[in-house]
Amino acid sequence: MNQSLPLENDPLAKKITLVSSETIACYGFDPIFGHPKIYLNIPLDTEVKCPYCSRIYLRTDLV
Ligand SMILES: [Zn+2]
Repeated sequence: MNQSLPLENDPLAKKITLVSSETIACYGFDPIFGHPKIYLNIPLDTEVKCPYCSRIYLRTDLV
């Protein structure tokens, strides 16, 4: 079986951004594929996925 997965389902494409604050602003970080600036509320030790760009933020006290 040589099955290719869509990029969004590829675990290697999963990017996690570590943050230390409860509220972060995401705007896509790309001039072409960016999105309107939104704010995400991230509980401690929790992963939150941006609904626009699917970037994953993990809040931790370690950064
Ligand atoms: Zn985003």
